[in-house]
Order: sequence, then C-alpha cells, then structure tokens
Amino acid sequence: MSKYWSPLTASLVPYVPGEQPKDKTYIKLNTNENPYPPSPKVIEAIKAAAGDDLRLYPDPTCESLIQAAADYYKLPASRVFAGNGSDEILAFAFAAFFDPAKTILYPDITYSFYKVYAKLYGLQSELIPLDESFTIHPADYARENGGVILPNPNAPTAKLMSLDAIRIVLDANPNQAVIIDEAYIDFGGESAVSLIAEYPNLLVVQTLSKSRSLAGLRVGFAFGSEELIEGLNRIKNSFNSYTIDRLALAGAVAAFEDDAYFRETTEKVIRTRDRVAGELTALGFTVTDSKTNFVFASYPDKPASSIFQQLRDKGVLVRYFAQPRIEEYLRISIGTDEEMDAFLQAVKEIVGK
Ligand SMILES: *Cc1c(COP(=O)(O)O)cnc(C)c1O
Repeated sequence: MSKYWSPLTASLVPYVPGEQPKDKTYIKLNTNENPYPPSPKVIEAIKAAAGDDLRLYPDPTCESLIQAAADYYKLPASRVFAGNGSDEILAFAFAAFFDPAKTILYPDITYSFYKVYAKLYGLQSELIPLDESFTIHPADYARENGGVILPNPNAPTAKLMSLDAIRIVLDANPNQAVIIDEAYIDFGGESAVSLIAEYPNLLVVQTLSKSRSLAGLRVGFAFGSEELIEGLNRIKNSFNSYTIDRLALAGAVAAFEDDAYFRETTEKVIRTRDRVAGELTALGFTVTDSKTNFVFASYPDKPASSIFQQLRDKGVLVRYFAQPRIEEYLRISIGTDEEMDAFLQAVKEIVGK
C-alpha cells in the first residue's frame, strides 16, 4: 500500500505469472512455453529488421502482419486485429465489449487473467462451475449477461469444446460479445475462426506464444466481425497506437510464412503429450483429455502440493494451483522428449514406482 496509489491501484489483485527462477537450471514445465525454438526464418527476419529503421516508429496499422494472419485464415484484413500478446488483446476486448452495468460470464476454473481484467475495469463476474469432469456446458451460458469469455481449449483443464457447443453459446447471446480465447487451439482443436462470417458477436483470440514458439516476441491476434475489430482499434488508439514493435512485426510475419516448421513442431508436441499422458495414466494418475501443450494430472495417493515440491527439489518445475477443486492437480507443460523422460523418471521416484 502506498499513499501515491489511486484507489483503483490499491484495489487491484494482479495476475501472478508462473515463476521464471534464476537460482539454478530447471527443466521448465510450468509456463506452457514451446520447447522448440522459433523457425530459423523468424530469427533471420528479426535480424534483418534490427537496423537503422529502429529510429522510426513501427507501422501502427500492422498492415503486413494483419495481412499474413488474414491470408492464413483466408479472411479479409478488416476482420483481423493484432496486438502485443493475446493478453493485451484480452485487456482491450474487456474494455471494448463488456458491460459494467451487467455481469460477465466465464468458467469457475479457467485462465486466471480474466478475473484480473474484470477487476481492473470494474466488471462484475459470474463464475459458471465446470461439471465434475471439468466439462463446460454451453447451456449454462444462456442467461442474462454483459459478455462471455471462454478459453478453448480451457486452461488449466486442457479440455476442448466442440464448435457445436460454441454455436450454442453464440446463438444464446446475439446481443453480447462472446470471446473465444484460442491460445492452445493448434494442439488438436478446431478453430472457431470458421464461424466468424456467421456470428457478428464472435471474437476469436489467438497467440504466437505457444504453438509458434514466440512467447518472447509478444504477438497475438483477434478475428471477428468488422464492428468488433473496429471496437478493438478504438481502444488501442486511445491507449497506445504502437503496440507491436518493428522486430516483432518482422518476426511474426516470417512465422506465418514457415508453415512447414510450424506443423512439424506442433506435431512433435502433440506426440510427446499423448505419450506422457499414457505413461502418467499407467502410473496411476488421472489425466484429462488434453488438446493443449500441457497435461492436467492428479495422483490419488499423494497430495499434488507435495509432488510439486518434490519435483522442484529434483529440478523439475511444473505448475500447482492452490485453488479449490483443482488443488489435487498439477499442470505440466510438454517439453522435449528428453525433458519429459527426465520428468517421468522423477515422478516414478516420487510415487515409488
Ligand atoms: C498463454 C495464454 C494467453 C496469453 O498469451 P500471450 O499471447 O502470451 O499473452 C492467453 N490466454 C490463455 C488461456 C493462455 O494460456
């Protein structure tokens, strides 16, 4: 608390990112980063952009990048927005579309940033419980509200909703924005981008952080109707018109150009994930059906908090949430096969198998 803080600052409950420790070298399976480096073409493009032009502001319309993302999804550029990571786009979208006079809806177990943004913008939230198997029931979102946000797949549960289920939410909310946060969609899901032409209330948010190995570059996208994209631009241009720098613009365009590399690394992560899920299940863990680059797992005979700590002592970092309903689960990001073998070996020692 400080006397210099505004009442708003004093009231905030900020997001706590997964730790990035510097005390020793860990096998880092705690922040859902991609274990593979970005495409070499991305690095080349960033190096080429690191020149005298850095004295100039970057393109505030992000035209080249928006065109690359639009081409990828075969959409007109007018239906695409680019931002400094999808977290920034989510922050803009909460301000642009959610009604403080009503209550916004999202699942009780989900990406914890939603609650933080709601607080920042003075929005009231109703947390809709997932069922016992962590499934989202779309009919639960057919009620009076000031906006809906759902991650698909959900985090940290890793579970995917079908496009039919998303249609039910969209049909029930023709007068509110429905945001689908697709941070993990490339790891086995089907994108709701295909529904944009039909649903003017749909905003799909994606990121290069996970499936394109570019968490350090900070680039995300939103896809939606022209009126939603214009709403995002109104907020952005009331805040900071230069959200994506020259290096990030160059690197992100190159990421879309190297589709082969993207497919290859994504496939590798999926294969490793399915193998690790199978091995954890064989050890007696309960593992949700993951369509992400992490697994969400619980062990019946030992508290998750203790497995978390013992893994940490063995140099393996995973994510533990001391939160009702999921306090017996660990979220384990998928690393390389070698890293996951080391993780599985440590787990076997901890559970005595
Ligand atoms: C990682 C993540 C984000 C944020 O991604 P950035 O583009 O790196 O800001 C957003 N939503 C969910 C559900 C995520 O897991």
